[in-house]
Amino acid sequence: MELRLGRHEYGGNRCKMTTHPQYRIGLGHDTHRFTAGDHLQLGSVRVPADRAFLAHSDGDVLIHAIMDALLGAAALGDIGEMFPDNDPANRGRDSAEMLRQVKKLLDERNWKIINLDCIVFLQSPKLGPYKAEIQSRLAMILDLEPTQIGVKAKTGEGIGFIGREEGASAECVALLQSRDL
Ligand code: MG
Repeated sequence: MELRLGRHEYGGNRCKMTTHPQYRIGLGHDTHRFTAGDHLQLGSVRVPADRAFLAHSDGDVLIHAIMDALLGAAALGDIGEMFPDNDPANRGRDSAEMLRQVKKLLDERNWKIINLDCIVFLQSPKLGPYKAEIQSRLAMILDLEPTQIGVKAKTGEGIGFIGREEGASAECVALLQSRDL
């Protein structure tokens, strides 16, 4: 049975968009514990702190969440598959460089990033003074405008592992548009 609804054609289990661009959303999440140190790497920005992320790479939870959102939207797996933590090549690796590789993969598959919206969950320090720099830095890496990247910060209200300052998390949603019509 073929059913026509507006410009979309539904036939069997197919749903082919004939004139509309194809959009995909993706969701990413990441968490890292703290260890001794003097800064937190967030969105490729060095945020001074009395601690650091305990991680195989540089522990940039924000970029890790962004990469998983982008890979998820394009159904290209996750960062654990792309950058295994048992591969010595990924030890101490710069997350910005990994994000560039994810962007390259999206470009090769004809996916254009429409926007990202992100939340960093961190009790302290306050991220307010660093948000604009994080937006600019991420925009530069992804060849976007800063206005295409939302960066928000939430504390843990003093409860849970965020509130107890045991670690930090980040979440990201990404919207992609296919260049193939
Ligand atoms: Mg991570």
